[in-house]
Amino acid sequence: MSQKYKNYIQSLKPSKLSSVDYHEDMSGIERFVSEDFPLHVAVHKIKERADVPQKYVELHQHDVLEINIILGSDDKPLKYNIQLGDENYTVQSPAIIRIPANLSHSANLIIGSGTFISIVMTKDYHAFSEDK
Ligand SMILES: [Zn+2]
Repeated sequence: MSQKYKNYIQSLKPSKLSSVDYHEDMSGIERFVSEDFPLHVAVHKIKERADVPQKYVELHQHDVLEINIILGSDDKPLKYNIQLGDENYTVQSPAIIRIPANLSHSANLIIGSGTFISIVMTKDYHAFSEDK
């Protein structure tokens, strides 16, 4: 077998939330990324949290589209605070969110357990804030 499509399949490796700008580590949230994928994909495994008191993702934006997918566990749906521009939304799983290029945004867990996936349409993650 030639395995010419071998690189299409990538394993996800643990990576700290704080390794990306505008994000801080949060207990109960594990982040996984592929170093060698043509898009920036981050999969977050969320263990059950009673509540998350602090904001761990600050408002930021990208010059490309970002998509967020929120999948809760069957018994404990996920609830996120999603800020888009100057508007705040409480979003319950399952949900998909479109974040156009240059719209400032943040996603902060409120409660629940499951999986939060962020896909940014670039290989090289770059974030900036409005007041840059
Ligand atoms: Zn983002």
